Amino acid sequence: LIQLYIPLNFLGVLYREIRQALTDIERMFGLMGTHREVADAPDAQPLARGAADVRFDHVGFAYDPARKILHDVDFAIPAGHTVAVVGHSGSGKSTLARLLFRFYDVQGGAVRINGQDIRQLTQDSLRAAIGIVPQDTVLFNDTLFYNIQYGRPDASRDEVEAAARAAQLESFIERLPDGWETRVGERGLKLSGGEKQRVAIARTLLKNPDILIFDEATSALDSQTEKAIQAQLDAAARGRTTLVIAHRLSTVMNADEIIVLDQGHIVERGHHTDLLARGGAYARMWQLQQQEEATAAAEA
Ligand code: ATP
Repeated sequence: LIQLYIPLNFLGVLYREIRQALTDIERMFGLMGTHREVADAPDAQPLARGAADVRFDHVGFAYDPARKILHDVDFAIPAGHTVAVVGHSGSGKSTLARLLFRFYDVQGGAVRINGQDIRQLTQDSLRAAIGIVPQDTVLFNDTLFYNIQYGRPDASRDEVEAAARAAQLESFIERLPDGWETRVGERGLKLSGGEKQRVAIARTLLKNPDILIFDEATSALDSQTEKAIQAQLDAAARGRTTLVIAHRLSTVMNADEIIVLDQGHIVERGHHTDLLARGGAYARMWQLQQQEEATAAAEA
């Protein structure tokens, strides 16, 4: 019986991992219920690991041919730099992340990494090189240790603990009566939004990707938590090519470049201070957000 049990148990674990990996990614990309549209090219090559220059090369894209979502979107994220994309809801920000992860293929132009069209790469190697910190992290019904180690299932205990320390989770975990063995998820301890994001950061640090996508949470974290998370994200982004999908402008001030999208067109680009001085779309969004924050602070 034991001979049967071991492979079955292994299959169970494997199934759980695959299911959960899909759940995380689908949630991040809002793809629940949609099918995968891309396949590996017959001569697809693995992406070489290391410094990654990302380029959206005159990208055009539509989910439905009748409604174009991205128009001639052209920008680069040099290796190790951070580019933040801002714009109103529906302007196409998350679509850029979906295209970089190759959930869909572009219809015009190309997405390139180190000059290589990602359609010529194996999907496994592409996805192994990209880490995602999603808006809303999915936790398994399992221990905190398992939930962090999930970033790289073969990571050692020391590596998992180091990642938790870097994400500033360690002291939180050590204060829990069951520590690392605390069960979380639907049937366990409920973590706050900030704690969940720290779990996502720790997972990403373990995965050690060359490219990082950070989909900023829309739900407001309190400003102290937000600042702390921002510092940990800045640390995680160091040395990696990072695409930030930003909902709050206060978090993009230090990006190397800010791209302003409006209905799928890049309407402005530059550093925070340059864009404010320009007095255009970005400056208007900034003023609006300042007013909203002042009103919220007055009401609190
Ligand atoms: P938000 O800030 O609200 O997250 P966004 O700028 O990230 O918005 P996207 O999610 O990129 O916007 O969506 C851009 C447009 O594409 C929207 O009009 C949306 O309705 C449409 N869209 C997104 N996903 C799909 C899909 N799977 N099928 C068809 N249309 C889609």
